[in-house]
Amino acid sequence: YDRPLDGAVALVTGASSGIGAATARRLAREGAAVALAARRRNRLDQVANDIAKLGGAAVAIEADITEPERADDMVQDTLDRFGRLDILVNNAGIMLLNSALHTTIEEWDRMISLNVAALLHVTHAAIPHLIYAASTSPRQVADLVNVSSTAGRVARPGSSVYGLTKFGLNAFTESLRQELLSERVRVSVVEPGSVDTELVNHVSDTTRDAARRQLDGIEALRPEDIADAISYIVTRERRVAVNEMLVRAGDQT
Ligand code: NDP
Repeated sequence: YDRPLDGAVALVTGASSGIGAATARRLAREGAAVALAARRRNRLDQVANDIAKLGGAAVAIEADITEPERADDMVQDTLDRFGRLDILVNNAGIMLLNSALHTTIEEWDRMISLNVAALLHVTHAAIPHLIYAASTSPRQVADLVNVSSTAGRVARPGSSVYGLTKFGLNAFTESLRQELLSERVRVSVVEPGSVDTELVNHVSDTTRDAARRQLDGIEALRPEDIADAISYIVTRERRVAVNEMLVRAGDQT
């Protein structure tokens, strides 16, 4: 039977855990060949093997995308392996919650370097290929999906620079959306609320407990819930453009 993404190729950054891994699995189930990028080779291989076992096509690309050449190469690796690029999911991100007073400048730099600079490198390298895919695909469309956050819509103490990266991502997305409209590349943003992933593990020892406590009171979303939102966006027919999806946990304020 025909699946909505048969013949399409997707590249998911940060596909070794959490939302990215769930999204890669989901897009593969919808028929896409999937390139999985992140630093942890063994975790990527696990996801790729699972996809292959279910009859899907996946390639693991070990890459630290904060290295600019690596970000470019990763897009090229995807093309070398699968010949085209129909869907880019910019998902890799890091959230180092802390107050401006107690954080280090390194924590701020790390968020800018991954959530902003790396995302820009990957996107810039991918755009011409997305445009080409849109013009040659039976779907008649290509998709660029950016994973932002509720922190891209609401500012709170402790998330000053994380929020800076995600508010900025929302503006970048909206501008690109308008630029690429005539090229039939849909550009969308997904803003998850609290999702149960490894994201919070990277927060420094002093603030991790507080960050966890914030989440403990409510039932968090599962990574699959966000994969579901992304899948909805990229499986719409060409006449439909879902520009933005804000998905909070049911009990989240
Ligand atoms: P995870 O920590 O589970 O996933 C982050 C992913 O990014 C991992 O696959 C990690 O892989 C990858 N990554 C980190 N650094 C790099 C790097 N330098 N180069 C390449 N890949 C890298 O967290 P989530 O799944 O939660 O996060 C995914 C996205 O969702 C992020 O953008 C986050 O901001 C966003 N988000 C998450 C929310 C949540 O509550 N969990 C809420 C709102 C938004 P590796 O370490 O192997 O490189």
